Amino acid sequence: MAEPVCTQGRDQLARLAFPRIGAYDLNLRFYPRSDLKCAFTKDAVNSILSCLCARCTNHLSYIGQSHLADPAGRERPSDFTERILGRNSAHSAIALFALLVHCGYPIFIIRFLERDYDDVTTIESYCRQERNINARDLEATHWPEFRIRDSFLSGQLAVTFIGAMHQFAPPVMEGRDHAVYGSRRIMPFFAEELLGRGTFGDVYGFKIHHGYLRIPVGPCFKPSRLCLHSLH
Ligand SMILES: [Zn+2]
Repeated sequence: MAEPVCTQGRDQLARLAFPRIGAYDLNLRFYPRSDLKCAFTKDAVNSILSCLCARCTNHLSYIGQSHLADPAGRERPSDFTERILGRNSAHSAIALFALLVHCGYPIFIIRFLERDYDDVTTIESYCRQERNINARDLEATHWPEFRIRDSFLSGQLAVTFIGAMHQFAPPVMEGRDHAVYGSRRIMPFFAEELLGRGTFGDVYGFKIHHGYLRIPVGPCFKPSRLCLHSLH
């Protein structure tokens, strides 16, 4: 029997983890936004939202949207597709949607969109202030009804969400000032190489994924390799 569309979507998403070579820990890879945009086309998002497998149908009821499963009804889960894709990348919820696909709860995106949340106001904000979000807050803010219905599954989703969110929101490298990142952030780097050890820390060379490199540089700069100073 063919797998439901939501599961197929999750399997396809897993193939986008970057870097693609096997040496990297799967949990430390990231999902480049540019690849998410290519993979989650309007048709792909429509078909995932329209999945009516037993799981997705249950999830619709967990967020009080069972009526969307009624083929005779006027509203459809796919009514939310445009809002996932957004008018421009600043207001899209494509990374949040991908995270929910990864967690196995794609339909929960509706719960966020109904209240005008997007990538910037959810995972990008949570990843910046990683100490300020915990599983209980997430459940209480975004799916309180689900927590009442099934506290075990709700808690499991919250832990998976927080555990994986950094993979969907690496920081964009911009500005000339120094920056400090939390220890759990997943950076858009690859091909890291230890260049040397000094008194105060280690120096690494690395490459930055093109989608996250917005450091203002002169015309002669070749973005082949930058250095990272990691303090002891
Ligand atoms: Zn499904």
